[in-house]
Amino acid sequence: MHAWGIAYDFDDTENRLHWGADRARLARPEYLPFWGIWEAEGWVSLGRTRNRDWMHVQAARLD
Ligand SMILES: [Zn+2]
Repeated sequence: MHAWGIAYDFDDTENRLHWGADRARLARPEYLPFWGIWEAEGWVSLGRTRNRDWMHVQAARLD
């Protein structure tokens, strides 16, 4: 997804690839508005859909 320019990673230090919601900063409740903005535009969070890679948001759906 990154190679196609349709994904971004945010704050990889505090949202490590294999961290779940128990550790990832972007899983905290104060980031719900942040995710609402992305999801309103059709982007997908791997953290919110798969509970991994919380740094990652992409403009492609998961099957
Ligand atoms: Zn990523």
